[in-house]
Amino acid sequence: MASSLKGKCAVITGSTSGIGMGMAQTLAAEGVHVMINGFGDAASIEAERAGMEKKYGVKVRYSAADISKPDQVEAMIKATNSELGSVDILVNNAGIQFTAPVEDFPLDKWDAILATNLSSAFYGIKYALPFMRAKKWGRIVSTASAHGLVASMQKAAYVAAKHGVVGLTKVVGLETAGSGITCNAICPGWVLTPLVQKQIDAMAAEQKISNEEAKIKLLSEKQPSKQFVTPEELGAYLVFLCSDAAAQITGSAMTMDGGWTAQ
Ligand code: NAD
Repeated sequence: MASSLKGKCAVITGSTSGIGMGMAQTLAAEGVHVMINGFGDAASIEAERAGMEKKYGVKVRYSAADISKPDQVEAMIKATNSELGSVDILVNNAGIQFTAPVEDFPLDKWDAILATNLSSAFYGIKYALPFMRAKKWGRIVSTASAHGLVASMQKAAYVAAKHGVVGLTKVVGLETAGSGITCNAICPGWVLTPLVQKQIDAMAAEQKISNEEAKIKLLSEKQPSKQFVTPEELGAYLVFLCSDAAAQITGSAMTMDGGWTAQ
């Protein structure tokens, strides 16, 4: 696997934290040059960038693009091509969450979640595909969610957006079939990242239980394995989907959810 990816160039949105950071590390370990992206403290991001370059001996660049803005995504994709050499792998990963019953769901939160979790993937694919088509090779992988396949209460925008990502994945899988380009979605269950820690903190405060109890409760409600998926496991899944062995996997929504959606 390593030899088939060595020297390829990837752009991974939302890779300054959580799953995206794990995926960036895993691709870099395979010899892939990486454009990282996301918000956060400038010094920590630079430490991540420089640390990856040193550890893995690949080029790592950073784009501060707000991926909810099409012009910024276009600029990030162009910068990936000019600074790293090509755009072979696009990982649409950045995402945000907000929970409320649908009739109380704030309009601005709905718009922000749809823009960040769904429209961003469309922008990334639209601007990256011409580079991939020119090379007759490409891998597009979006981090959807178990919530791309099934629903939970209070997550109207998130569930709608993630189902949308799965739909977009199918269309792009069809439009690129046989071209050397594949497009797939990974649907993780619970992963212990800052995005989920916020939900654990809210549950602990609301139900007056400890952080550990809240973690177990959160897992027990949805994830039969009662174990968190890890960013490293998702990184390994991504590497497989980018490999030649996965050339015929396209338009798919692949779960890694400890059994969540088997129920
Ligand atoms: P996280 O909060 O740790 O990381 C999110 C990343 O996205 C950060 O780097 C953040 O800076 C970036 N980001 C947010 N808005 C952005 C914007 N407008 N422009 C650029 N970057 C932006 O979250 P995570 O848990 O690692 O989530 C990553 C993806 O995985 C999301 O799409 C999320 O919906 C999905 N997911 C997470 C879980 C889970 O349990 N953590 C489960 C299923 C799916």
